[in-house]
Amino acid sequence: MQDRFVHCIAQLPQPLADQLVPLLNQDFAGHMDAQQVADLAQATQMSQDELLLAMLPIAAALAKPPISEFYVGAIAKGASGDIYMGANLELDGEALFHSVHAEQSAISHAWLSGETGIEDIIVNASPCGHCRQFMNELVEGQAIRIHLPEQATQPLSHYLPYAFGPADLNIKTPLLSKQQHEFALESADPMIIEALDHLSLSYAPYSEGYAAVVLETRDGATFCGRYAENAAFNPSMLPMQMALSAMARHNRDFSEINRAVLIESSQGKISLVGATMDALHAVAAVELEHIMVDPV
Ligand SMILES: [Zn+2]
Repeated sequence: MQDRFVHCIAQLPQPLADQLVPLLNQDFAGHMDAQQVADLAQATQMSQDELLLAMLPIAAALAKPPISEFYVGAIAKGASGDIYMGANLELDGEALFHSVHAEQSAISHAWLSGETGIEDIIVNASPCGHCRQFMNELVEGQAIRIHLPEQATQPLSHYLPYAFGPADLNIKTPLLSKQQHEFALESADPMIIEALDHLSLSYAPYSEGYAAVVLETRDGATFCGRYAENAAFNPSMLPMQMALSAMARHNRDFSEINRAVLIESSQGKISLVGATMDALHAVAAVELEHIMVDPV
């Protein structure tokens, strides 16, 4: 079991802790498939809702909050039935807008894993206004069920009445819906090919500044982020933050980054290059490779 779970496993009911210890091995980064969740519920005699609420301390243990030292965990349950944990991330010494909230981490985890819808969000504290707005960008966002400890489950529409969302700006394919944007780039570099794949799946209906980031560590592992824009602009999630959040879930130290690529559309109304460099330089002494590509 990874060291970061030692403290939280002791807080869980013993039957659940016994089942989880073998799952929290070195490869664990917060994903469990639907069958694993069903098996855990059966072995612990818990309902699925009880189980997911009980596992929040595991999600919170994925956090890196050097500023607030406040650990928030969230679990997103995808349309496939798989679950995706997420946690808050703060960049030490940097402006607070670089932070990632637990719900954003969990939802981006599900998106990067190919989910096309989120049905439930389980979180250990009432979602902040920023996260309510972020979730409202998702497909069928108003119907997402929000589960909190000791509170009745309510849809997002309960927490965000009179919402402003993508439909108000005439966007018919909201975040997580299937869409693919084509860009012209020939490259034999696997990292750039990977970045291009994520670029094509990024979500930027308001600025058309489609963008993706790939980070490579010294051992050759890669961590990706896609831009996820928001109708209210500020709750947008930048691809660098999404990639750093993926690294944090995998328990990787940012000092291990040895290459960083930002790829973005040449036709966007904005560029993320400045914001991406700021976040990268806050965590690693690596120069950003910046590639602009033309839409097809
Ligand atoms: Zn939040």
